[in-house]
This record gives sequence, structure tokens and C-alpha cells, in this order.
Amino acid sequence: ASAFSSVPLAPPDIIFHLTAQYKADKDPKKVNVGVGAFRTDKLQPYVLPVVKKADAILFNDESLDHEYQPIAGQPSYTKAAARLILGKDSPAIKENRVAAVQTISGTGANHTGAAFLAQFYKKSRTVYISNPTWANHRNIFSMVGFEVKEYPYWNPTTRGLDYSGLIKAMEQAPDGGIFILHACAHNPTGVDPTRDQWKGIADVMQKKNHFPFFDCAYQGFASGDLDSDAWAVRYFVDRGFELFVAQSFAKNFGLYGERAGNLTIVTKSTGETNTVFSQIEKLQRAEISNPPAYGARIVDIVLNDPVLYAEWKENLKYMSNRIIEMRKALYGRLIELKTPGKWNHITDQIGMFSFTGLNKNQVTVLKQKYHIYMTDNGRISMAGLSTTNVNYFATALDDVVR
Ligand code: PMP
Repeated sequence: ASAFSSVPLAPPDIIFHLTAQYKADKDPKKVNVGVGAFRTDKLQPYVLPVVKKADAILFNDESLDHEYQPIAGQPSYTKAAARLILGKDSPAIKENRVAAVQTISGTGANHTGAAFLAQFYKKSRTVYISNPTWANHRNIFSMVGFEVKEYPYWNPTTRGLDYSGLIKAMEQAPDGGIFILHACAHNPTGVDPTRDQWKGIADVMQKKNHFPFFDCAYQGFASGDLDSDAWAVRYFVDRGFELFVAQSFAKNFGLYGERAGNLTIVTKSTGETNTVFSQIEKLQRAEISNPPAYGARIVDIVLNDPVLYAEWKENLKYMSNRIIEMRKALYGRLIELKTPGKWNHITDQIGMFSFTGLNKNQVTVLKQKYHIYMTDNGRISMAGLSTTNVNYFATALDDVVR
């Protein structure tokens, strides 16, 4: 028999399958609100102007070559990434309690953190993810051997956070559990805890000795403000937690294909930082040897140049504003149409996505009758809407909920 005769067929990835269906659709009115990538109002991919500038700098830099990067990435890059999320005045940075490693975008940061914890975290074999969450969390953490359980997050009745369910799950979990937390702009719901709720979460986690693993894929992209999107992480650091943060520069730099990410690790002492870093380097060596240079160089240039950094913030504002405008436009149109139900969650939610509350049947009708493509859970990417198609989208939505 063949070595592969017993390999079962894996299901296609939902999002990428949806994109393929959308591409095959010939209807000119078609709308893609499936994939989580920013689009301009003309529904085109967006190359950030500041990225173009950094690109030009790279192109003209005669000193650059194509040698291997350091195993953990260039320190100028990883330090800047850690500073971006923790804040330049972070006590953890001042006290030399931060290790950082360049990863294959946010996915790689989650994976490297997961692989490290699988090997060295002794308090628990269970990772808790929110229900719902980014579909890849389950894959990533179960593939390195963790048992993956869900904690309540979304309340379908209020179309908001199930705060009491979340707290109860944390209380009931055995001590020392690993909790994956979305730093901001929760995917897929667009619902984040308030600052008071984050305090409550930190209280239980501290009491129960749980380990916070932040996933931060949307810093600056969510609110348009890099600091306020980093608030929860910084708060946990101030509270004295040791923690991991997986960072992605896919969305906030528009560097989806370059795979520039970072895993920032905060420990309790410099000594532990050094030992943890040594093991992360060893792990990285076995997995990828050396991280890719190109995307990280762009991010490095921008984060370390005050003028370009200021310009990046403007680019971020443009992206987050466009999304906020689309939320307002969709909400406004649904109100005009007197669409049955409450729709304030459309404008309350933040970040790339909105969890509409549409059910699977309604999603199917939207696809078949209106050529509108979204995931079965009713999540829409706000960047798929534009001033041109938002009325069409609202009218279709109005039809399927009546
Ligand atoms: N975490 C979450 C919650 C995400 O939404 C994403 C992007 N879809 C990622 C991580 C990582 O994406 P990437 O690997 O492209 O940086």
C-alpha cells in the first residue's frame, strides 16, 4: 500500500474557498465581505504611501545585501515592535524583562508562542480560546499538542460581550490555564471588553494564576490610535503579569504577503528573559532558521524614523476612518429602510469586522440571490463595503431579515 493511502481529505479553508467562489461569480453587482483585507473606496488593495517611501529607501540603499538575517530577526526591528505594543515607557522595557523574536507574521507569532509553551509551560495543558475566535487559533494550538477549550465571549441576544460568561469560565478553569485574548478589535465579533471589564479580567486571571497570551493583529487599525489599541496589553504589564503578545504587521502596514510579525515576551526578570530568549532562538532555528528580511526592513525603517512614523499614523487614520465611515453608512441606510431589528452593534463594534447576527440561511440567500459573499457565521469585513455598494448591501440585508 502507498504511504499515503490513509490520509483523509482535509476540508478547504473557509475564507480562501469563499474568495474563490466570489472570483468565479460573473455578476457585476457582486460584493466580497468575506476576506479580512483592507480595500480602498474603489475596493482596491491599498499600498500605504509610507510603505512606498520605505520601499524607495530600501531600493536605493547600496549597503543592503541578501545575507541571512539574525535567527531572531534584526534587533532594531524586534525592539521597535516590542516598544510599539508595550509603549516606550513600559516598566518591562526599562527593567530589561522583554524578549522579542521576528516571526512569520501574526500566524507565526501565535505558532512560535504556542510551540514554546507546549515545550516549557508546566502549569497546564489547556489553552482557552474565545467562542467564537479567529479560526486558526484552534488549529495552531491543537497542532502543538494543547487541549483547546472555548470560553464564552459573544452574547447573541445583546450582540455584545458575554462578560459574565467569560468571567465565570475563567473562575471555573483549573489554575494556570493559558487564555488567548484579542488585544483589540476582536475577530470575528468586533466586540472588545471595556477598560473596566479588562480590569475584571485581570483580577480573575491574577487570582487564578492564568497565563495571558495576547493576539494583536490590528494595532492602530482598530481605533486609529496605536496607544489606545495597545491599552489592554499595557494594563496587564502594569499589573505585573508575565505574558506573550503575538503581533502582526499585515493589516496595520498593509504587508499581508510579506509576513512580518513579532512575538513579544514579558517575563518577571532579566534572567528569565535571557533563558526564554535562548530557547526561542533554538526553536526558531529548527523551524525557519532565519526570518524573511523584506517586510521586516520596511517596518523597521518606518518605526525607527520619526517623520515616517508620523506619516504611518496618518495612513492608519485613513484606513480606520474609512471603516468607521462604512459602519455609519450601513447603519444609517438600515435605519432609513426601517430594517427590522436593532442595528446599533454595527457602529458599536470596532476593527475590520462586524458580526451582523445574520444566520446561515440568510447568508446563503445573500449569496445566491444577491451575489454577496460572507462567512456562514454572518461576519462581514467592513472594508468590502464602499460608497458605491453600501446601499445595495443594505437593501439586500433588509430583504433577507424581513
Ligand atoms: N490573529 C488574528 C485574530 C487575526 O485576525 C489575524 C489575521 N487574520 C492574525 C492573527 C494573523 O494574520 P497574519 O498571519 O496574516 O499576520
